[in-house]
Amino acid sequence: MEAARDNLIFNLESWPEAGQRVDFALAPSTLSPYLEAAMTQDGDVLEGEPPQLLSSLRGWLSLDLFGRRLRLRGSFSVKVELTCHRCLALFEDKIGDTIEESVDLVAPGEEAADRETVVEVVDNHFDLTPLLCELLWLSWPMKVLCRPDCLGLCLSCGANLNEGLCSCGKTQRIRH
Ligand SMILES: [Zn+2]
Ligand SMILES: [Zn+2]
Repeated sequence: MEAARDNLIFNLESWPEAGQRVDFALAPSTLSPYLEAAMTQDGDVLEGEPPQLLSSLRGWLSLDLFGRRLRLRGSFSVKVELTCHRCLALFEDKIGDTIEESVDLVAPGEEAADRETVVEVVDNHFDLTPLLCELLWLSWPMKVLCRPDCLGLCLSCGANLNEGLCSCGKTQRIRH
């Protein structure tokens, strides 16, 4: 078995006609600039700390090229640190998804009908890392809770009510 690739940069000159299947393991440091770009495009505003990846993003991709149309199938998963929206505690979780995408390979600056489904080719090379980071960001949970019945913080004194009743005397829970 071949070792997992540590990048998703492909060379069109040595592209196998039958397509290819690759296993990958991308380090958090490789991903963070692309992930931050994915998070802030389309006017998305990042609240609080940028998301933390606690492991490499691992997965596999099956790639088939039809002219300039690239079909991707596969899956990925990564261990992340999330902040509970209710009690603000940090906790570990796993994010993963299947991949089912089609993109067009284009020259830099080339007019594209739909910019979301193009990948630029430079010197016969293209990089799928930005696309993977966009897919990761799309899979990021919108509502994050450390546990379904998280009690949150006391609205009067800020104590974490998961750790017991606070002693402020006016305990106020978040309604949910
Ligand atoms: Zn919580
Ligand atoms: Zn309180």
